[in-house]
Amino acid sequence: MGQNTEKTIQIKTQLRPAIYSSFQCIADRCQNNCCHDWNIRFSKKDYLKVKRAPKTPELEELARQAMHRLPDGQRTLENYAEFCSGTGKCAWQQENGLCALQLGCGEETLPLVCRQFPRHKLNSPMGRLHSLSTACEAVVELLWNTPEGMEFCEDMLPKQQWYIVNGDNNLFFHPVLMSTSIDILQERRFSLSRRLMILGLALETVRNQGFEKFQPDEWLTRVHYLLSEPSLSEPLERSKHNLPLYLAHQYRTIFKICRMRKGWWETLVNRVGMVEYTGDYQWESTYSVTEYQKKVEIFDDYFGDISYFWENLMVNTFYFLAFPDVSSPEKLWKSYVNLCNLYSLFRFTAIINCGESPSQEKLFEAVVMVSRGMIHNKQQMALLQDEFFNNDSSSLSHMAILVQG
Ligand code: SF4
Repeated sequence: MGQNTEKTIQIKTQLRPAIYSSFQCIADRCQNNCCHDWNIRFSKKDYLKVKRAPKTPELEELARQAMHRLPDGQRTLENYAEFCSGTGKCAWQQENGLCALQLGCGEETLPLVCRQFPRHKLNSPMGRLHSLSTACEAVVELLWNTPEGMEFCEDMLPKQQWYIVNGDNNLFFHPVLMSTSIDILQERRFSLSRRLMILGLALETVRNQGFEKFQPDEWLTRVHYLLSEPSLSEPLERSKHNLPLYLAHQYRTIFKICRMRKGWWETLVNRVGMVEYTGDYQWESTYSVTEYQKKVEIFDDYFGDISYFWENLMVNTFYFLAFPDVSSPEKLWKSYVNLCNLYSLFRFTAIINCGESPSQEKLFEAVVMVSRGMIHNKQQMALLQDEFFNNDSSSLSHMAILVQG
């Protein structure tokens, strides 16, 4: 039986998606350059590095314009300051597209996110996780070009990079929960929405019993049973299709995330309804279910079956965010709610952005915009997550509506 005692293990391996080494910036083909139209957030350490770097008077002036600390209450050590490029290009970007900060102060002065984007790395009990962010169009293109599904490669870390993980037993359940969840997401015998339901049933067991009673072998038997007995997840699928509720939910979410590229999101939601800005980031909306259904048909006719793409997107998202959060049973469930919310928002945004004339470019743009608004804005994601719980809408049957809308 799982006991909540402290453990220490040494991690010697690293993991990356097989597409990782194929990443290459698509530069002038990119519709939403990563130095444009979103605020780039970074840590206090990065902020101080940029602030204290010796600069010419011109660069000092640029730093004053380009960089701001987040307001009190929003500021944390990890999320401390930002380059404000939410309404145009980053102030550091020169006419020739090159970064003045990098040229003037050296690459090592750039915040970590600028040096690494879209690459990301995280030390976990499963190994060092290297991943790619779908806030970059080139990464979305890689997912599109992988119809066979995502694979992962594991190898040894160089000895000097081995690291120690200390923590409660919970932490060491992460590898089995993460890898099995990804297996469920890739179980192509079922539709993706059904896989998300099966994943919900599997994680709900852990949430209900708590980590003290969690036994990986028993849980794996339960997962096997859920995958071999379709009748267990069928009732959830039958409860689908509540489009008014689904649309109301998407609108609420979009209003919350549209501070970045407000104009883009406003135009988007206006395609299936009327939205009026009433000030202080509040909107009133009326929407048309029929309009939305029409757009779903146009989208499906144009793209046909692209379930492999949605699967890749959700597997990549799950892995990028190192889900599920195992710090408590409640947080584990919150990760699942987040995943369902992201899936429904990706699809909704893609369908509406494609509108009457779908294209691959519009689909990719929607994925990039949702990734920037949500996945790269953990505070925003946490706020939305709390809303689900405050409004009592975090149940599995509510998730069924979201993922099948
Ligand atoms: S978003 Fe990706 S593809 Fe576009 S400019 Fe940045 S790194 Fe290159």
